[in-house]
Amino acid sequence: MTDKTIRTQFSSQSKCEVCDCQVNYSDFLLYEKRGYLVCSSYDCKAVMSQKNKLSPALFAFHLDRNKKIIHERRAKDAAAIKYREDIELKESLENQKILQSILSENPHLVAKNIHTLTIPSGLSRSIPITEERLEIYSKHLKSIISKAACFADAAKVTDEIFEQNYENHDRVLKVEQLFANQPLLKSMSNQLCALCKGGCCPVGGDHAYLSVVTMRCYLDTHPDLSEQDVLDLYLSKISTKSIAGACINQTREGCVLPREMRSDVCNGFYCAPLKSYHKEYLIKGEKTEVLAIQRSHTHWNRFDPDEENEVVNVVLLGDKKLS
Ligand code: SF4
Ligand code: SF4
Ligand SMILES: [Zn+2]
Repeated sequence: MTDKTIRTQFSSQSKCEVCDCQVNYSDFLLYEKRGYLVCSSYDCKAVMSQKNKLSPALFAFHLDRNKKIIHERRAKDAAAIKYREDIELKESLENQKILQSILSENPHLVAKNIHTLTIPSGLSRSIPITEERLEIYSKHLKSIISKAACFADAAKVTDEIFEQNYENHDRVLKVEQLFANQPLLKSMSNQLCALCKGGCCPVGGDHAYLSVVTMRCYLDTHPDLSEQDVLDLYLSKISTKSIAGACINQTREGCVLPREMRSDVCNGFYCAPLKSYHKEYLIKGEKTEVLAIQRSHTHWNRFDPDEENEVVNVVLLGDKKLS
């Protein structure tokens, strides 16, 4: 077949035999070699790879069954994406309305560059820390401290538990460097995180993202401390109460660990709205005002069908004239 003939035959009718989606031209070219048309999806290719191995009757059964599974899965994924997009659109329209109402009540703000962002809310119910949680946390600390002691320094550590290694430290250093050059950005970011009160901390559980790398970094900067000293120090920071359903170190007053005792994950993390604010700030400079619209969800459950995501707070940072 000439290339021209092949192109002529390639049409909108060239569908994957499993999922019915349009195959791309490079998959179409493999039709003769394979003896069937299949798209680039791993699942579809796995189904069709059985065509020459199974009897025709068995393959027909296999194809029919997997077609249904793949169609159902894709419909579910598409529904989940639509659900997320609907929430994003609804919230974005609500945010625009809030901004418009603030501008109409405060005309001096119209000429300003206002960056509107949605921040989540940390969980807030404080409960006593159980012996069981403490036990799990202590075990975790003992394990990572003793592993950390086997490495000469942090640069040599790879920690499979959180897939952390010393390279993650670069992310923290970059944030620190950025903030050193942009003190206003640092102050605004701190204010936003203080408003949010740890919306990203609920997943910290009883490990607090502390890893072998964190411990080795700490031992590197405190060479006089023994393994037991480090364990005692971390345990001494624990409060009697912490936030229900969140990291063991999260309290109503914030994280009990000083920054140098936290993991690189905690120190380097900024949620998407804050990251986009950082980006805009670097492009537009410090004239950027920040309108923070705080919603009730945490960083992790914004798209949870049981979550209302209602607006709980609206704050314009940096504007002194706003009453
Ligand atoms: S990074 Fe985002 S989610 Fe985490 S505390 Fe700050 S504002 Fe909240
Ligand atoms: S250690 Fe602190 S910053 Fe990290 S997840 Fe726990 S409370 Fe949040
Ligand atoms: Zn397919």
